[in-house]
Amino acid sequence: MEMESQPETTSNSGFRSLQSSITAAFLLLVCFVLLFSTVLETYSSIQTQRQLIDKQHGLIAQEAAGKVSAFFDRIALRMKMLVRLHDPIAVDPAELHLDLEKLLGSESAIRHLLVLRADGTKLDEISRLSSLSAGALDAHIDSYHFGRVLGGETAFTPVYIDEVTSEPLIIVGVPAKNALGDTNAAMFAELNLKFIWTLVAELRIGDEGLAYLVDETGRLIAADDVNRVLSGERLTHLTEVQRFLGALGPPHEDFTDFWQRGFTGDYVVARHASLENQPWALVVETPVREAFSATIHKAWYSLLILALSLTLAVIAARYLATRVTKPIVSLRDATHRIAQGERSVRLDLRLKNEIGDLAHSFDHMVSVLDRTTVSRDSLAAEVSERRRAEEAAAEAKKQAEDASVAKSRFLANMSHELRTPLNAIIGFTTLLEDSKLDGVQRDYVSTVRGSGNVLLSLINDILDISKVEEGRLELERIPFEIEHVVETVLQIVRPRVSGSPIELIHDISDIPPWFLGDPTRVQQILLNLLSNAIKFTPRGRIAVDVRIDESDRKGAGHPGLRRTLRISVRDSGIGIPRDKLATIFEVFVQADTSTTRRFGGSGLGLAITKAFVERMGGRIWVESEPEQGSEFIFTLELEQCASPEQGAPDDRGSLSGRGVGIVTSNGDIAGSLRETCRREGLVVRFVSATGAEARKALQGLSSEEPSIDALLVDLDLPDQTGTELAEAIHGQDRWRNVRVIALTHDLLTEVAERDPFQGYVTRPVLRSELRSALAQALGGRESTAEADRDGTPSAKARRGGDDTLSGLRILVAEDNTVNLRLVRQLLERMGAREIEEASNGREALDAARRERFDLILMDVQMPEMNGLEATQAIREQVDAEVPIIALTAGALQEDRRHALDAGMTDFLTKPVDRTELRRVLVLHTSPSGKRLER
Ligand code: ADP
Repeated sequence: MEMESQPETTSNSGFRSLQSSITAAFLLLVCFVLLFSTVLETYSSIQTQRQLIDKQHGLIAQEAAGKVSAFFDRIALRMKMLVRLHDPIAVDPAELHLDLEKLLGSESAIRHLLVLRADGTKLDEISRLSSLSAGALDAHIDSYHFGRVLGGETAFTPVYIDEVTSEPLIIVGVPAKNALGDTNAAMFAELNLKFIWTLVAELRIGDEGLAYLVDETGRLIAADDVNRVLSGERLTHLTEVQRFLGALGPPHEDFTDFWQRGFTGDYVVARHASLENQPWALVVETPVREAFSATIHKAWYSLLILALSLTLAVIAARYLATRVTKPIVSLRDATHRIAQGERSVRLDLRLKNEIGDLAHSFDHMVSVLDRTTVSRDSLAAEVSERRRAEEAAAEAKKQAEDASVAKSRFLANMSHELRTPLNAIIGFTTLLEDSKLDGVQRDYVSTVRGSGNVLLSLINDILDISKVEEGRLELERIPFEIEHVVETVLQIVRPRVSGSPIELIHDISDIPPWFLGDPTRVQQILLNLLSNAIKFTPRGRIAVDVRIDESDRKGAGHPGLRRTLRISVRDSGIGIPRDKLATIFEVFVQADTSTTRRFGGSGLGLAITKAFVERMGGRIWVESEPEQGSEFIFTLELEQCASPEQGAPDDRGSLSGRGVGIVTSNGDIAGSLRETCRREGLVVRFVSATGAEARKALQGLSSEEPSIDALLVDLDLPDQTGTELAEAIHGQDRWRNVRVIALTHDLLTEVAERDPFQGYVTRPVLRSELRSALAQALGGRESTAEADRDGTPSAKARRGGDDTLSGLRILVAEDNTVNLRLVRQLLERMGAREIEEASNGREALDAARRERFDLILMDVQMPEMNGLEATQAIREQVDAEVPIIALTAGALQEDRRHALDAGMTDFLTKPVDRTELRRVLVLHTSPSGKRLER
């Protein structure tokens, strides 16, 4: 239970609650202000009071001093009046004595009176005391004072103490003048200073203040306390007395010496005033306590207020601090609770100030936090959900990919397994077709062979589409001749239209002959389109058109340039419904299921075609009109290249300049043929539609030199047969040597092979066939093999076997005995007589060790040692040169690559096509390797 985690701050030792801080600060401030003001006020009050007291004391002292002076003045005046009234020398001594007695009687302060002549002799004397002690008085009047009095001054002696009574006494002397104004006597009076005591004692100075009189030596003369006066005490230790005696300066302005020890020893405020007729001073003092009682009262009062204010301040501070800190504390607690995961925390402080604002903002923040936390939670949930989905998807993808790999493996294996028996079926039916059969048998056999071919193309299609879908379609990049590709396809499909009312024509306009690319795939595209066209065209015309696309304006171009080829296949067939146009390029889509049932097909062809075209950087589209026909157009991006057959004899050379005439009513054929001739270097002298026209044209030709070498005659002319026309021409001496070549459909070759024709070409006329037919007819050469290569094998076969391979020793390695037999048959038909057999790679290697072969045909998949291993062994141990041709049911590009990597010379796919077999064998056994290639 670690829930009780306090916020950082409280555990911090330096932590001071905000509340106490605020309170302390507030108190300090108030304290400071109050104290400051109190001190200031007290100070100024003391100052004022001091000045006041000072002034008061001054006045009192002055007044008292005046009174004391007046006492002496009065006595001196009465004495002067007495001696002025009666000259003491001249007057009657009794009268003088009476005067003296009167004076003594009226002035109780006078104790003794003495009148002396100027020479010092006594004139009269009177005393209040019982026994006269004049001597005592005389003793205190010294010559100095006597002299001063005789000089006309009123003089006082210093104070002295009577030994008996201990009273302070003083003697005052006044001069006595005669009528002439001369001083002839002096009058002295001894004064008891006790009489000024009362005067001084009666002075009222406040409640406790007092006054005292000191003489010029600092001795106390008069004070309330008689004993101290009588003891003759000197007060020179008191500040105010010292000041009077001149030992100190005037009082300091800053009143540092304002407080002083007073008469009774207390702290007092004092002031003195000097007497006018005596060198004495009257000192007035008031105890500080009394002098500043008002101020002290005030100070106490201030202190009281201070304390009260402080109490109030404490209360106010606490209240304020609580008001400020309480919301902050609840804010802190709230954040603490939020941190612990509580979400429903709300402050709800309805304060109309900044703190209220803060609380409001906090509540808002918490609600936003709440929302975002909720959305974050759901987001997190969503994310993990999505991640799960992604993982599932990835897993599914992986499974799908695995499945796809497995599928393609399976397909490759299946196709391999299917090809092997198909190889036997097609191969043997082909051989069977060549043997002696009656009509029904031949029909059955050709049906078997056709079905085998359909099956084969289906296998091929499925293999192709699986490769396309896996994205594993690999394209070759080799030089090829576009015209050769087109003619090969035409050659393949031509049998399918022979005998049907379909005219197959082609037009290859000015295009560069050689390109870099994959001829097999181009051929496949064209074959698919042409097969479809033938399938869906009951009658009419199918035209193949090859040209450089209009967008490509590079002229003749040069090797290395990328060109855009545009190839179209147009038919006049059933067309495609408008709504199907968009989808027919998709896998397994067929425009019309009813037509499909009628025509067969898998719906894969166009999908494969499209994939191939697009891989070659082109595009394919269709334009079609139901019942009018369709046109499939595709473009290809190919790199133009130079002819790889550098230095080969120019085909044109042999026939160029020879004159020919064309006789056919079919304009398409005429046009196409004319173009083919032109490209072959022949000079077309005329084109006629009928036999009559042709004869007329011949007549019109110049007779000097036979400017015509051959006639190409359609077997089927509107006015007569081709045979008739040929015979008619040969009947005339002039044209006897003109060679007549029949233009025929495949099926009619029987007619064309006979006289009066010197050769035949099948429609559509392929350039290669035209060339060989003309060469043969004009040169008279026997060139069966050549003709054979060019695609009329059945005709040649029917003439009997050939000797293409005669004299060659051939080794065939094949584990399947049926296929072995088939290959053997095929080879024997090509004239091979020495054929060695091996049923696996090891046997083949042993045979190769034993004897020398001119050629080895090697199956790839064999028990014990497969074809690739056997080939490698032969290459390394026996013969690096002998041509080894792979013979395999594996139709994939990589199968081919593996074969070539293992050292094989070439590659043949099962089922073995007889023509292809012948081509490859001839290619690799002829001394030049090009004997028949030209
Ligand atoms: P299939 O193997 O069925 O011919 P394709 O993919 O080659 O498959 O063709 C798909 C469909 O397109 C065909 O079934 C047909 O309905 C239509 N089609 C293709 N070419 C033509 C054409 N030249 N004329 C009319 N319809 C065509």
